Amino acid sequence: MTAKPAAAAARATVYGYPRQGPDRELKKAIEGYWKGRTTADALRETASGLRRSNWRDLAESGIHEVPTGDFSYYDHVLDTSVMVGAVPERHRKAVEADPLDGYFAMARGTQDVAPLEMTKWFDTNYHYLVPELGPDTVFRTDSAQQVGQLREAIALGLAARPVLVGPVTYLLLAKPAPGVAADFEPLTLLDRLLPVYAEVLADLRAAGADWVQLDEPALVQDRTQAELDATARAYRGLGTLTDRPKLLIASYFDRLGDALPVLAKAPVDGLAMDFTGAAAANLDALAAVGGLPGKRLVAGVVDGRNIWVADLERSLGTLGTLLGLAGRVDVSASCSLVHVPLDASVERDIDPQILRWLAFARQKTAEISVLARGLARGTDTIAAELAANRADLASRAASAITRDSAVRARTAAVTDADGHRSLPYAERAGAQRARLGLPLLPTTTIGSFPQTARVRTARADLRSRRIDVDGYEERVRNEIRQVISFQEEAGLDVLVHGEPERNDMVQYFAEQLTGYLATRHGWVQSYGTRYVRPPVLAGDISRPGPMTVRWTTYAQSLTARPVKGMLTGPVTMLAWSFVRDDQPLGDTARQVALALRDEVDDLEAAGTPVIQVDEPALRETLPLRAADRPAYLDWATEAFRLTTGGVRPDTQIHTHMCYAEFGDIVQAIDDLDADVISLEAARSHMQVARELAGHGYPREAGPGVYDIHSPRVPSAQEAAELLRTGLEAIPPERLWVNPDCGLKTRAWPEVRAALENLVAAAREVRGDL
Ligand code: GLN
Ligand code: ZN
Repeated sequence: MTAKPAAAAARATVYGYPRQGPDRELKKAIEGYWKGRTTADALRETASGLRRSNWRDLAESGIHEVPTGDFSYYDHVLDTSVMVGAVPERHRKAVEADPLDGYFAMARGTQDVAPLEMTKWFDTNYHYLVPELGPDTVFRTDSAQQVGQLREAIALGLAARPVLVGPVTYLLLAKPAPGVAADFEPLTLLDRLLPVYAEVLADLRAAGADWVQLDEPALVQDRTQAELDATARAYRGLGTLTDRPKLLIASYFDRLGDALPVLAKAPVDGLAMDFTGAAAANLDALAAVGGLPGKRLVAGVVDGRNIWVADLERSLGTLGTLLGLAGRVDVSASCSLVHVPLDASVERDIDPQILRWLAFARQKTAEISVLARGLARGTDTIAAELAANRADLASRAASAITRDSAVRARTAAVTDADGHRSLPYAERAGAQRARLGLPLLPTTTIGSFPQTARVRTARADLRSRRIDVDGYEERVRNEIRQVISFQEEAGLDVLVHGEPERNDMVQYFAEQLTGYLATRHGWVQSYGTRYVRPPVLAGDISRPGPMTVRWTTYAQSLTARPVKGMLTGPVTMLAWSFVRDDQPLGDTARQVALALRDEVDDLEAAGTPVIQVDEPALRETLPLRAADRPAYLDWATEAFRLTTGGVRPDTQIHTHMCYAEFGDIVQAIDDLDADVISLEAARSHMQVARELAGHGYPREAGPGVYDIHSPRVPSAQEAAELLRTGLEAIPPERLWVNPDCGLKTRAWPEVRAALENLVAAAREVRGDL
């Protein structure tokens, strides 16, 4: 560490912090407001109290510059739409009548007006509200929220840095408003948007902002030359403003690639870059462009989206190299900390030894501050912290939990043959047809039936010991009996047990697998007031015993029709958990796959003729950069095949994915070598059927004919018409009839009517064949 003066300036910062509060106070206040139990003033009071306590926590743990504007009542992209006045026409009246209610109407819709569409924020499990723009969009500056939050932090005597979604990312995340041509490119609005950003920057400057951070994560995705040119234009424009705060352009979730030279040349004052995981490539790339002489570099060296303690020595090594590459180097997490839970120290059920391996937002903040101190004052000033960190890392590396020799021996012995069924699909299909004896256009469902209050009460009663395990299981069997008898009456062909025993499709399995941990308070925002508690894939994975077999066989004992077994696939088990960072994802996926393979084999041995392995997350886990996708799809499809490859030719393997856009993974879907796939299609009018056919997909498919995201019951005519459309692309021997997805969020009366109509439609269309 030679560049002492630069190092001496090193500061600690973060880009954002969990919004919910230690006890999810924000969720409670907002939901209370929606129900009319909390006033708007009380809600604002709770929110500002949470912001203040977050800032104080950050400052006390050694963060020099706190973020502002990262807080949101619902979503920061929606807040950006408000900031630039991009309120859809249909919401304008409500927003004018009452900004807060109008804001929630955009987020959630009302009886009469649809909300904005919601989609995933890059490859995280956070969802944002998609801006709707068109050639007629008129932007208008509304900096009140950003300015207000900045003033609150300054009033506490803190150095604060407003964080905004940058203009390029904002436009790249937008979609054409309803009624606007589908090929409209929101990025063409850049020149109209920049003056609004200029005004916001001026307002923030006037309110006391020294620095402002503009987040441009869209620049870590593959971008066209035109998009890179627009980026250059945007930051030339904002950078050459006269009265402006210093500008920090932030990127995260991956490497900057071709956008790095563009940003390095821009007349801005600093860049924030991710140096974790695949983004570590930023280090060499930064050296290759000659670094950022005279500028500020905020180095994201602590992983902001996973929950493991950092390797402080390695981070210091990265920081040391970076010192030579910028005028000043500050320390941060790789991205906002909204993607991790708040505080690991409140977990009581996790073994204290293992707890030392975990770092949630609070612990990460402490790591960042230690690193900044080490960088500024020398590593001898943090010798005690480094020693403790070394001990924690060593305990994790040597633990029997992370190194189970039986699991390791088994994964090492996997051969290519394990991932292949004994016969190709074309030959299996005949054997399955003979075994199952199904009609053409067989009807089925995706697995879950309505999760009634009765089921949820039973689970709560078990947790609070009001009932014992026997009492609980009797209630689950009760549900299964009702689900089976309904399906028989409705005339469905392949039945399911309804999944009443599952709290969640990942958690249910995580709880039964060795190597997985559950947290009690590890809430992470999924969208709005919805928080999830992802389980932690902490160690080597094994399955002590069957997980679903008795429920499936119980269901099968009640009926002569085939009952389909139901599992969550390995990729989804990883995607909706916190994953290990001490081995390649593919290795973890292989362990999970082998555990699930045992379950599949046990289901088959128990006589289950059809087994569905759900992979709704296969596409969302796709790496942000196209160059990284083949390697991902390789391990992902291998894990699926390893899960299902051990069954006989006459056992039918289904898979399910709940989305309609899968054009870029259709080859991977084929590589799964499943016999039947069900997909979402009702809203897109069977578009997926045409796409599958267009790609020459050779297997059976069930494009959904019942949109389960709405309480609406499709008529038999409607479903029949969708089936006829499907038949234009997929021949009758290969077309299945099913809803878009599971039915757990729906109510019984709708489900009953919709499935009866679905069966009637299948019968009607069979009659034409
Ligand atoms: N089998 C699951 C269900 O029906 C699938 C859910 C999903 O795809 N998200 O609920
Ligand atoms: Zn689904």
